[in-house]
Amino acid sequence: MQAEIITIGDELLIGQTIDTNSAWMGEQLNAIGMHVHQITSITDHPNHIKTALDEALKRSNLILMTGGLGPTKDDVTKATLTDYFNTKLVLNEEVLEGIEAYFSGRGIPIMEVNKLQAMLPEKCTVLRNLLGTASGMWFDLDGKVVVSMPGVPYEMKGLMSNEVLPRASKHFKTPFIYHRTLLTFGRGESRIAEQIADLEDEMVVQGIKLAYLPAAGRVKLRLSASGTDKIDVMANVDAFFDRVAERLSDIVFGEGKTEMEETLNAVLQANSKTIACAESCTGGTIAALLAKHPGSSTSFLGGVVAYANEVKTAVLGVKESTLAAHGAVSEQTVKEMVMGVIRLTGADYAVSTSGVAGPDGGSEEKPIGTVWIAYGSAEKVFTKQLNLGTNRQRIIAVAGLSALNMLRRAILEGKV
Ligand code: AMP
Ligand code: MG
Repeated sequence: MQAEIITIGDELLIGQTIDTNSAWMGEQLNAIGMHVHQITSITDHPNHIKTALDEALKRSNLILMTGGLGPTKDDVTKATLTDYFNTKLVLNEEVLEGIEAYFSGRGIPIMEVNKLQAMLPEKCTVLRNLLGTASGMWFDLDGKVVVSMPGVPYEMKGLMSNEVLPRASKHFKTPFIYHRTLLTFGRGESRIAEQIADLEDEMVVQGIKLAYLPAAGRVKLRLSASGTDKIDVMANVDAFFDRVAERLSDIVFGEGKTEMEETLNAVLQANSKTIACAESCTGGTIAALLAKHPGSSTSFLGGVVAYANEVKTAVLGVKESTLAAHGAVSEQTVKEMVMGVIRLTGADYAVSTSGVAGPDGGSEEKPIGTVWIAYGSAEKVFTKQLNLGTNRQRIIAVAGLSALNMLRRAILEGKV
């Protein structure tokens, strides 16, 4: 069963607003067994809306549209759909009452343009928007369905959850779609593909799709399948998921939407251990990650951002002689940073970073992208040098995640 999404709004096409609606709707549609076949973003122009609809109706059974339903002149979706479906606008008393209540509840005087939002196409099923004044519209068309919703993300989400998804589930007979996503860190997608080539071949035969989704330092592997027998589909995907996870066990850090820092937090909490960080080139990125999720305070004690050498010596106790002999970006310095922050905080474990994030400051000996990381405990500190390319944002992001991953693995392997 094929679905499509059309997002409408000039702001989407000039990069002013990112189309987050499609991403969320795609995920929700998949969960009810609808394959999203295409996502299209278009301008607030009647002709553009009509052409996009013509094309989408040739391909798909369910077309979800968002945007262009505001009371102002720049929003033209409602008038265009009224015209497209050859119908006329009629007053919906219930919606009018809702709009009046919306304004009186907020103590704002209602304007004529707001009342006009209760004028809705005669030929549609009106979907009540409990979070705003623009109603959703559901058009039936020889078994196919076109739905129009406001662009404001939380209003769209309310309409989807309360009205569109339950109605679509009833209206269309859909298969069961199942995804599982394996999260890996520290190896490129081509090398991973080579490592699991035989499993990938087997999966093709079994109707399982494998997608590689690379991001800074990480590659997500998504296994997907669909079918009518839910138990069967799940068992098939689960079996391959476990085999891929086993094959890549040295780089797997989690599953689904889990973040690296969450898996480290879980390991720390399971062992009742605490962590601190001492950061130079990552500038607080690691601390921000460690504090990002609820419950962080059980394991995260604190961190020091020691960007300048003076802070490394004064706060963390890095020896001036170390800095003079080896430089700030060195194995010795990151080791002393870890020791220093453990002394300061009393944490069981710590990680530290020092590197050249660029674009200035590289040298032949230590080019941009050179990062030293230390991790461990008061008894045992490990170090590693990375070379992370030339993009400053990427160097910072990957250095932070690498430090967390190295400590996580060291704990799991019983090295610290
Ligand atoms: P509209 O229904 O066109 O009046 O949209 C109202 C607001 O919703 C716009 O100002 C955008 O900021 C936001 N919006 C519209 N479409 C999207 C979209 N596809 N993704 C995220 N936000 C959107
Ligand atoms: Mg708009």
